[in-house]
Amino acid sequence: MINEKKIEELLESSKDVGTEELKEIIVKARTCKGLTLEETSKLLNIHDQGLLEELFQAAKYIKEQIYGKRVVLFAPLYTSNECNNNCLYCGFRAANKELHRKTLNVDEVVHEAKEIERQGHKRILMVCGEDKNKTHIKHITDALAAVYANCDIRRINVNAAPLTIEEFKELKKAGIGTYQLFQETYHRETYKKMHPTGKKADYDWRLTAMERALEAGIDDLGIGPLLGLYDYKFEVLAVLQHSEYLMNKFGVGPHTISVPRLRPALGSALQVAPYPVSDSDFKKLVAILRLAVPYTGIILSTREGAALRDELLSLGVSQVSAGSKTSPGGYGHEEEKSDQFYTTDHRTLNQMIKTICDSGYIPSFCTACYRRCRTGENFMELAKEGEIHTFCQPNAVLTFKENLIDYGAPEDRAAGEEIIKKALEEIEDAELKEAAMAKLKLIEEGQRDLYF
Ligand code: SAM
Ligand code: SF4
Repeated sequence: MINEKKIEELLESSKDVGTEELKEIIVKARTCKGLTLEETSKLLNIHDQGLLEELFQAAKYIKEQIYGKRVVLFAPLYTSNECNNNCLYCGFRAANKELHRKTLNVDEVVHEAKEIERQGHKRILMVCGEDKNKTHIKHITDALAAVYANCDIRRINVNAAPLTIEEFKELKKAGIGTYQLFQETYHRETYKKMHPTGKKADYDWRLTAMERALEAGIDDLGIGPLLGLYDYKFEVLAVLQHSEYLMNKFGVGPHTISVPRLRPALGSALQVAPYPVSDSDFKKLVAILRLAVPYTGIILSTREGAALRDELLSLGVSQVSAGSKTSPGGYGHEEEKSDQFYTTDHRTLNQMIKTICDSGYIPSFCTACYRRCRTGENFMELAKEGEIHTFCQPNAVLTFKENLIDYGAPEDRAAGEEIIKKALEEIEDAELKEAAMAKLKLIEEGQRDLYF
């Protein structure tokens, strides 16, 4: 699945590529058909400022072609910080005796979900440590069932340790949106150093998790490397190899790629990132991912600071978290010393919405695709034909309208309405535009959860 030798050879052979060839690759990428690993490795070696600018423009163009102007918002919900593993970089590691440990019961999970919902979110990413007695599959499925039953949260994605096929089937039954799992580092030797003990020490068990999920019927998957553990160029090519492998074997690539960058954490055994990724390289790699796999969503969390996140909106990011807490119970009340890592962007959801609007994008709380079965192969087909924004744009309009009415600050409403008006005008299909306007009217009259 991951061919380290090939990656190293590619990186070595693409060191001295000329400007003309790099320009041609960027032009080719604008056809939205993706790039080969070889082409991608060449782009990773761009240093020239002018070429970087061309790369960024292409990323912006591709994002808008495929997804339109919408940016999807979500918040993480940490159900437990108990963990048997010892990942060197993580605050939840078993060896961290300073951390205040907590596993939420279902009532506490629902309480947290309601707090998240109170901000205006409709989409949650559930996260927990890996503790065989505390965060077993039942802990996760009970949490999903309770939130779906008691809140107006419409989609729950899950980021949790690799499961067996049987357990993945349970997760599917419980109504999971995306199953997300980061390989952390695709570089085997580094992986071994970073994960000295516990179940997570098994590189292959983790790498094969997505195959088991697919075999269990979950076809909406999120992958990613934890940037900073090893050379980012290697990780970018490896995550693309992973994606290509899934695509070839199952006809379904990952729905999303996340780009978490290592952050300081209480009790972390890493004082500094072994392979720090500069802001400038970070922007470059996000843009390159956008060119390489145009139909795969890119997720950005509050690990990154406000200014950089705002810049990245136009470089291909399609989903961002906002108003996040990384400790179990963190939304209800701030508990000291229970966070996984320190976040950087502390803006509220409403502030993030305003920024998205000011940048010319439209915030979206859409959860339609998985409820309309536009997942896996179905989603890929639509995305590859450039059809997915047909749904994204009107669904963004509808869900943003709901948000403005139910949660918007009075002073932001007029500007929000302007964005909605503009986004409606951009819907090319006359019939669809009319249907969206009819649904908007119903929302004004009090109906909710309308989508295409
Ligand atoms: N325990 C499960 C696991 O390890 O897959 C799932 C949850 S874990 C809390 C979610 C992700 O947080 C990890 O996969 C890792 O990439 C990320 N993470 C851990 N420590 C981090 C840190 N110090 N900075 C940034 N991200 C971190
Ligand atoms: Fe546990 Fe996950 Fe943190 Fe590792 S990254 S210590 S497995 S919570």
